[in-house]
Amino acid sequence: MIFHLTNFILDVDVERTRAFYRLPEVPTTSRGCTCEDCQNFDKAILTVPATVTEFLQSLGIDPQKPIEAFSVTGGHEPDGTIWYNGWYHACGKVVAWPKFEQTENHLSYSWEDCHRPDPSFHFDIIAVPTIDLAREQMPTPIIQLDFDTYLPYVLQN
Ligand SMILES: [Zn+2]
Repeated sequence: MIFHLTNFILDVDVERTRAFYRLPEVPTTSRGCTCEDCQNFDKAILTVPATVTEFLQSLGIDPQKPIEAFSVTGGHEPDGTIWYNGWYHACGKVVAWPKFEQTENHLSYSWEDCHRPDPSFHFDIIAVPTIDLAREQMPTPIIQLDFDTYLPYVLQN
């Protein structure tokens, strides 16, 4: 299925992607890691606007099962949220890439080229030309979608 996103186009095999995320051995962040950031992520991701989770689900992605998610600063932001980066995988191909700048050992992209499913909420996602930590159960070809978001801290103290 073709998805025309802000500055890039994806051709996603939604059924194969969905089948991957439904595998019981593909863990949610809180099952995959005991650290506080991971424990928080899969509860906090359910508090975002439905537009965001429905967008991920339309690609076949389970929002609670990023391939990787981590706190960028390792702590809480001044407003109490946690700044998360990470990525999801989907089965398919990138039809049109966003712009990238390759410096010596760093690949950078403009967040303006990212797709923001809900304009009122900071959850940005972009296709990148690297595939990191692919699980053996993920059918190829693989699209990597990096994300950047601020999620509330929802764990009880
Ligand atoms: Zn963790």
